[in-house]
Amino acid sequence: MPGFTPGRRYQPPFMPFQRQPFKKRALAKIELAVKGPLFGCRMCGNCLLQETAFICPMECPKGLRNGPCGGSTPEKCYVDESRPCIWYKIYERSFKLGREALLLEVLPPMDWKKAGTDSWGDVFEQADKIGLKTIASGLTSGKAGSVTQTLDSIFKPVRQPDWWQDDAEYHAPKYDEPASELERRLKAGEFVVAAEVTPPLSINTEKLKQNIEMLKPYVAALNFTDSASAIPRMSSVACSKIALELGADPVMQITGRDHNRVNLQSSVMGASALGVRNMLCLTGDSMALGPGPQGRMDVVDLDGIQMLWVLRRLRDEAKYLDGREIKAPPKYFLGAAASPFASNMKFQSLREQKKVNAGAQFFQTNVVFDADALDEWLNEIARRNILDKIYILIGITPLKNYKTAAYMHKRIPGVFVPEKILKRMEAAKEQGNEQEEGVQIALELIEKIKAKQGVSGIHLMAIGWEEIVPRIVTETGLGKLERLQVGKLKAADVL
Ligand code: SF4
Repeated sequence: MPGFTPGRRYQPPFMPFQRQPFKKRALAKIELAVKGPLFGCRMCGNCLLQETAFICPMECPKGLRNGPCGGSTPEKCYVDESRPCIWYKIYERSFKLGREALLLEVLPPMDWKKAGTDSWGDVFEQADKIGLKTIASGLTSGKAGSVTQTLDSIFKPVRQPDWWQDDAEYHAPKYDEPASELERRLKAGEFVVAAEVTPPLSINTEKLKQNIEMLKPYVAALNFTDSASAIPRMSSVACSKIALELGADPVMQITGRDHNRVNLQSSVMGASALGVRNMLCLTGDSMALGPGPQGRMDVVDLDGIQMLWVLRRLRDEAKYLDGREIKAPPKYFLGAAASPFASNMKFQSLREQKKVNAGAQFFQTNVVFDADALDEWLNEIARRNILDKIYILIGITPLKNYKTAAYMHKRIPGVFVPEKILKRMEAAKEQGNEQEEGVQIALELIEKIKAKQGVSGIHLMAIGWEEIVPRIVTETGLGKLERLQVGKLKAADVL
């Protein structure tokens, strides 16, 4: 167990896809012999150790390269509970060593052609370009920041290849007119309500349409999940199209779990052509949560942050990931998930900032049951100077019964149900009024959330209990909305 990689569980190194020339094979062997025991290196061929406090992120079973998922906790990884979350360890050490600013750089997805090969060859090549004399004087000059600058001049071009080229900076969207009804309302300063509608399990769309018709007078936008918990259902794009036809503004959720880099870009181009104007990028629940037989759990081609980066560039620079230009680029409002209670709030807020830098314009948070504890997260976000760059919609779930409350607390990554709410639901169970108590808890939470600075709305996730949404919206005084206009926004308007 290498001392430099806390809590490491041995995983075999990657093998190259193609047979490599002798020199490269020899270099790879030496690199593995050195970096394997020291850093738990898995020979991904796309080394990021400089940015990850010298702990290899390839230990993460999802293969995430930009930070922890919403399921990380100090105790364990939610995908494989037999090991710690390696990203938690990376964050802990980065903060300890004062290297946390390095975690803000949006890092590229793997170039799988390099998996199993050496990274040192690229480093030597870059060092050669700069010149040994320049490097030596940079490392020994004694000037403030000179060592960091010199190392960055070697390693940055290696970790940021030409086809990616990102940084740790914020990139404002390059358009002015709102892309969607949701964006228009948020820009106008409304406290908005969005609601999630569970896609059907069959091709019968009757209930789906009923739910859309029932909810659209009350909400600014309707989210359609993308096979949540890795359980296949009707696709988010199909539900979004049906919502558009019925005059609602859909938020198409799209997961990295089910979309590789090719499919992500083609799906979003297709959805844009159909008129979908809100995209919510998620890494996605692990296959491990699904009913099985389970698909590959260790490969997420793009994480949520990389998805945001690719889609922002697709829209604002009119470019595919491979650099091809798009004559008529898509237009959309880009969202991401935020998870205030997953891991340490200081860590989470750093990840949230990275999402904003990558392209997130709105957050829909994981379910919140403790409005007071939310303040700490909002303060962290404010400290990171991103509150004016993002609209935050807080996730609320009306509890139907005590069993759901206990299940969410124990089993749903990133969800924390305070003891007093669990007790209230338990008492309500004995008195036979669980549903009413669940609604009252939701109303109380919304009342508190409405008063919070920096919060732009709520996101109601009723999980199959959609008929309660109109009552909640009405009783919180948020009222019915005038008819939504988004149906008029057609692909032709932006192409
Ligand atoms: S909790 Fe998430 S980020 Fe952490 S190791 Fe597991 S899958 Fe990776």
